[in-house]
Amino acid sequence: MGATGALAGAALFTAEAAAQQSKPGSENTVTLPPIDAATEPPLTTPGPFLPPNKRVGFAVVGLGNLSLDQILPAFGKSDYCKVTALVSGDRGKALKIAAQYGIAESNLIDYAGYETLKNMPGVDVIYIVLPNSMHREFVVRGAKIGKHILCEKPMATSARDCEDMIAACKQANVKLMIAYRQQYEPMNRTLGKAVADGKLGKVHSIVASNSQNVGDPTQWRLNRKLAGGGCMPDVGIYCLNAARFLTNEEPEEVLAVTVQPKDDPRFKEVESRCEVIARFPSGMTATFTSAYDVHRSNFLRLEGDTAWGEMSPGFGYHGSKLHFSRLEDGKDVEMTPSIEEKDQFALEMDHMATCVLQNVQPHTPGEEGLQDQRLIEAIYKSAASGRGVKVSQPNGPTRGPALPPMKA
Ligand code: NAD
Repeated sequence: MGATGALAGAALFTAEAAAQQSKPGSENTVTLPPIDAATEPPLTTPGPFLPPNKRVGFAVVGLGNLSLDQILPAFGKSDYCKVTALVSGDRGKALKIAAQYGIAESNLIDYAGYETLKNMPGVDVIYIVLPNSMHREFVVRGAKIGKHILCEKPMATSARDCEDMIAACKQANVKLMIAYRQQYEPMNRTLGKAVADGKLGKVHSIVASNSQNVGDPTQWRLNRKLAGGGCMPDVGIYCLNAARFLTNEEPEEVLAVTVQPKDDPRFKEVESRCEVIARFPSGMTATFTSAYDVHRSNFLRLEGDTAWGEMSPGFGYHGSKLHFSRLEDGKDVEMTPSIEEKDQFALEMDHMATCVLQNVQPHTPGEEGLQDQRLIEAIYKSAASGRGVKVSQPNGPTRGPALPPMKA
């Protein structure tokens, strides 16, 4: 399954394109007779799955923490994907992992041999899971050999690189998706729908934090050239992206403060903390903090004039909790919807696979990563100058077609 078939540029972001997204393999759906009363929520069965020979094949590039802890295990929970190749600088490690996932030895390559993915059977998508500054090179090289690309966040370390990556994928007529896993996650989607349906009234304020305590001072995350910054592009980006996609608004100005302690060997090159206030055209503000020197903490609250919705924890791989509070007859009513947790990486990869199978633009294309990067650059500019920095609205939509409705 190669990168065939062009989408007409203007049609990329339309609702019609979204409507094409029926579930792959849905002809094999099995419906069992209900066993509960009609008043009970319906039982759902997983799938329909695609059989192995019809699944979209992924080459995973970079075998570090995220690949080993989350991405590779998620293939076992995916409906449409399989892992068919590994790209690593450490053949010994790749062999051990390949043995666990049943990947042929002939499909293990190093970075210099990356272009051999072009003719490797069963590789449709390349998933880039490398340090941030390497994303550009491997996306561009991947596009040139005609493969669809799923690229980890942050998309790159400069807006210029993001633009080059978008251009390379357009030129090669391959899909480019940025792995914003939270946009595919059911609690985030429920919260976004509540905002869109006016369930919070008018959202005036967003408050969020995504912070952790990093160790080893020699890791690439603390190297400016490889990471592009400190906590902001790594973990603060979740708060920034959430403020954007949950409200469907784009910041027009940011004001930021960064902290880089002089006496801590971890922060010789990058900030340990970043505080941001973003102002949106409607007057809404988002205030968020990210840190590399505090105990893990992550939450998000959207405050509307009649209700608030909160995810706490909010940005982890597992265990997010969604909570609403609203005024009813002068009293606070609290509500915690019962939403089954899903593997965010399986959902995200299945979305990419669906886009390939149905030739649809991803919901989080390169333009979404570019806009975050433009804002991150404005955030650093503001921190350096001590002044608010204006950011122009994007030229067009940054997100692709709306996702199909979630399963009941
Ligand atoms: P990691 O350090 O654990 O793994 C990076 C891999 O890249 C390693 O296998 C390393 O050997 C390889 N590598 C190749 N060239 C390298 C070089 N010059 N320097 C350092 N490593 C090199 O990092 P990770 O946590 O797996 O992060 C990888 C990417 O995934 C990053 O872009 C990160 O932002 C992103 N990420 C996303 C999430 C998420 O929730 N979506 C979570 C963690 C990381």
